[in-house]
Amino acid sequence: MTLRHLPRFALRVIVLLLALPLAAQVPASWTTPFPPFRIAGNLYYVGSGDLAAYLIVTPRGNILINSNLETSPPQIKQAVESLGFKFSDTKILLISHGHYDHCAGSAAIKRMTGAKYEVMAADVPVVESGGHNDFHYATDKTMWFPPAKVDRVLHDGDMVSLGGTTLTAHRTAGHTKGTTTWTLDERENGRTLHVVIVGSPNVNPGYKLVNNKTYPQIAADYRHQFEVLTKLPCEIFLGAHGGYFDLAEKYARFKAGDKNAFIDPAGYKAYVADREQAFEAELKKQSGADR
Ligand SMILES: [Zn+2]
Repeated sequence: MTLRHLPRFALRVIVLLLALPLAAQVPASWTTPFPPFRIAGNLYYVGSGDLAAYLIVTPRGNILINSNLETSPPQIKQAVESLGFKFSDTKILLISHGHYDHCAGSAAIKRMTGAKYEVMAADVPVVESGGHNDFHYATDKTMWFPPAKVDRVLHDGDMVSLGGTTLTAHRTAGHTKGTTTWTLDERENGRTLHVVIVGSPNVNPGYKLVNNKTYPQIAADYRHQFEVLTKLPCEIFLGAHGGYFDLAEKYARFKAGDKNAFIDPAGYKAYVADREQAFEAELKKQSGADR
């Protein structure tokens, strides 16, 4: 029997099965273009539908947060240029954490712009090995990415300054050992707005929170993360994925004329509380199962 003789339904099933691994690997929202726009002050959104990237524009050059997928740099470049800025003015490249959906494009962006790559210490071995020594995904080839050399190793509380703008790196680990939440202040209409770009508070499927041999302090790190996030002052709530802060819904309101669409202190508090609850529930479940 040849393919031609298979019923149409069977052919459809085969096509679907062949497409599944790819579809599961990268959700469409990760590559769908999203209109770049100014969030507040000198801070711009230059990411895709769900993979967030942020541009901070200064008179001494620009800072880019997140390089996203290996295929993302041309899309990020286009977003930066369509806002009227030069991609080659990118002087510093930062990331939310060392997973391929936020840092696989870093090697290419370093080549394209000559930007200095500044990464939290505990994620440095991961990004420099292309994910080969990630505590959880080291043997999962689908999570590997082009290695990129780090030019400055960051520690908790370090500042990144350029042209009058200063960002603070908060080590909010657990999701990776060096997950970083970035904060900065923006001026908008005579008002100072505290911006928080959440690195990731999420416990991925399969993460061991108890007796984790490759990351023994994982649960303590998550707890520390929630202590830090709970204390951060926040008016503008952002994160590594648009889904964290309802990017699409807020952008629709913003486009409709709501200048304050991204000012969401209550949404930030609710998100952190919800993620902390999810972590504690998973920890409880795993602690029970471990006995
Ligand atoms: Zn991640």
